[in-house]
Amino acid sequence: MQKIGVFGGSFNPIHRGHIAMALCALDAFSLQKMLLLPTGNPPHKREGLADKRDRLEMVRLAALEDARLQACDLEVTRGGVIYTVDTLHLLRARMPDASLYYLIGADTLLDLHTWRHVDEVLSLTSFIVCGRPGYGSEEVISCMDTLRQSGAVMYWLDMPALDISATMVRALAAQKGPLEKAVTAKVAAYIRNHALYGA
Ligand code: ATP
Repeated sequence: MQKIGVFGGSFNPIHRGHIAMALCALDAFSLQKMLLLPTGNPPHKREGLADKRDRLEMVRLAALEDARLQACDLEVTRGGVIYTVDTLHLLRARMPDASLYYLIGADTLLDLHTWRHVDEVLSLTSFIVCGRPGYGSEEVISCMDTLRQSGAVMYWLDMPALDISATMVRALAAQKGPLEKAVTAKVAAYIRNHALYGA
């Protein structure tokens, strides 16, 4: 049976923290590949959100770092409001024999109960949770336990927490600071060449 990682996010932009978590999850859970799924543009423009085509292109560039990383345009090419539950149904239909492992950070874990049709989401995929600075382990463990009690399959990704966010990258770009420590060289060049985030 194929084991496929699914990593959704605004990826505004995709940064080295995202890549490090994806590679760690691929290795730790022996996944065949990790789909990187940028969200579409929300119906109401979110302040500072780059166009979905730019975010997808940066994901494509970042995916060149490892052959197991694969940019997926499933959410970017769909119109209307897009929910993870619908995306997971589409992925299950495309790969009926695969087990899905959805990768999230601790902040997203604590938000999971607000997702549309969360019980259905939990029945369609297992979750791999990565710690994040600012999110205490007690809170995270208790949230994972509660979800497990309602039937969820939750795994913990054992790696050092990474102090990096897309917010930090956007601030750095706006200050015309060096981006290469935070994003891959190709993504940094794309941000500069397209003057994204005030770069
Ligand atoms: P922003 O700063 O704009 O909120 P972000 O850095 O959180 O963005 P997203 O694209 O929103 O990036 O995140 C996609 C997924 O990656 C989410 O599940 C988020 O929790 C996770 N994630 C992002 N950065 C980290 C990190 N440094 N450590 C752990 N998880 C992370």
